[in-house]
Amino acid sequence: MAVDNKIEWNFNNTYLSLPKIMLSEQKPDIVKKPEVVIINHSLSEELGLNLLNLDNDYLASVFSGNSLPDGSKTISMAYAGHQFGHFTILGDGRAITIGEHVTQNNQRFEIQFKGSGKTKFSRDGDGKAALGPMLREYIISEAMHYLNIPTTRSLAVIKTGEKVIREKELKGAILTRVATSHLRVGTFQYFAYKKDDSSLKTLINFTINKHYPSLKNKENLYLNLIDKLMEKQIDLIVNWMRVGFIHGVMNTDNMALSGETIDYGPCAFMDQYDPKSVFSSIDHFGRYAYYNQPTIAKWNLARFAECLIPLLDSNKDKAIKLATDKVNEFDSNYEKKWLGMMRDKLGMIGNQKEDEVLILDLLQWMHINKADYTNTFCNLTYENMINDKIFHKDDFLKWKERWKIRLSVNNNDKTSEKTMKKSNPVVIPRNHLVEDALKTAETGDLEKTNRLLKVLSEPYKIQSSIQDLQTSPKPSKIPYKTFCGT
Ligand code: AMP
Ligand code: MG
Repeated sequence: MAVDNKIEWNFNNTYLSLPKIMLSEQKPDIVKKPEVVIINHSLSEELGLNLLNLDNDYLASVFSGNSLPDGSKTISMAYAGHQFGHFTILGDGRAITIGEHVTQNNQRFEIQFKGSGKTKFSRDGDGKAALGPMLREYIISEAMHYLNIPTTRSLAVIKTGEKVIREKELKGAILTRVATSHLRVGTFQYFAYKKDDSSLKTLINFTINKHYPSLKNKENLYLNLIDKLMEKQIDLIVNWMRVGFIHGVMNTDNMALSGETIDYGPCAFMDQYDPKSVFSSIDHFGRYAYYNQPTIAKWNLARFAECLIPLLDSNKDKAIKLATDKVNEFDSNYEKKWLGMMRDKLGMIGNQKEDEVLILDLLQWMHINKADYTNTFCNLTYENMINDKIFHKDDFLKWKERWKIRLSVNNNDKTSEKTMKKSNPVVIPRNHLVEDALKTAETGDLEKTNRLLKVLSEPYKIQSSIQDLQTSPKPSKIPYKTFCGT
């Protein structure tokens, strides 16, 4: 059923110009008893949507897919991907894009339901999603946004009134996800696998028009696109490393061409610093561990570059060399940006030879002492904010003396302070807090979720009465695990 456009969607679905073999028309399932769990009014305002004056029944009906708005064109997309290193044909198995909304200042966003039923690409999956994981994506993606990290966002979570069967029976839910696009490295791999160069070119033009119009008239267009994706992904991963975020499942289908963080599955934030941190229950070999994220981003970029080889040069050897040389620029570019990010976290102005050793010594101290990553930087930024005796230890104080000497080079206290405050969040969505909020949300009580969301919407600001959200949990005997595919 189509409904009046009370929400004021302004759909202009450019994705319909993509090659037909990539799209499948798909209607969301009608759900039994849709009920609003949460609506993101601040995002809806940014998008120029009118949700504030609509009643919950109407919103539940629209954001469950029971009533599709006029102008929507519901599709699922084909894509492929390397999952844990193995190539597979995938596609939106439980996601349906309903339209591309254009805001008043001409920004475009794809609006997508996650968990709204089977699609042509569902394989063995049921196409559904459960409340916990959808609300988890909502909380973490919003937190990422306010941490100033590019990300897809979350507009609504609706309970379906139906059961979803996983290891046990769970409450069904649908998340409305907002992204500048859902194009992934895996989308390109799909056409490369099919050896469909013509569709690949259409996809590349679409991508460049949408995300990187400045590349349009450049020579070496394809090489420039690889370069651009490299830059975007390096910036993204450096940001993840900055706040201790571990994506958990950096398969090539989860690497977006836009440079946004996408597909919040088994992701988590690190409390105590350990570069080998890994939380996903299915990541047995630590492929997607914290420290390995740049290596994997480079690996994924190489898979992207491979797709473009037929277009890079008619001489295959030359094309391979061009792609390889480009991808090999990753390490030094990443290193430079990572070092810059760490210097910012420590307020160090300019470049000094000893900076890297100073930074690595701090990380090593954190690792050996099981110090909390966020709180250590908080302690350095706001001297008296974190009350933990670990920061009175001799070796830490000695490191601090070296750091102070470094700060006196190119001394500018104001700039240092400002940069540190922008780089070091005082609060992050700690795993135990998110789990606790989700547990109570299951019972219909959203107080903890709402408090968390409110505090996380200003992560760089000193806020009163949030000590309980800043405390690092004691290392648990049972490691924290997150589960994929729920
Ligand atoms: P992800 O790990 O979320 O990136 O998902 C990997 C692939 O599995 C994607 O193609 C998803 O669309 C698909 N998928 C995940 N969960 C389900 C489900 N419940 N039903 C159908 N497909 C799913
Ligand atoms: Mg995915």
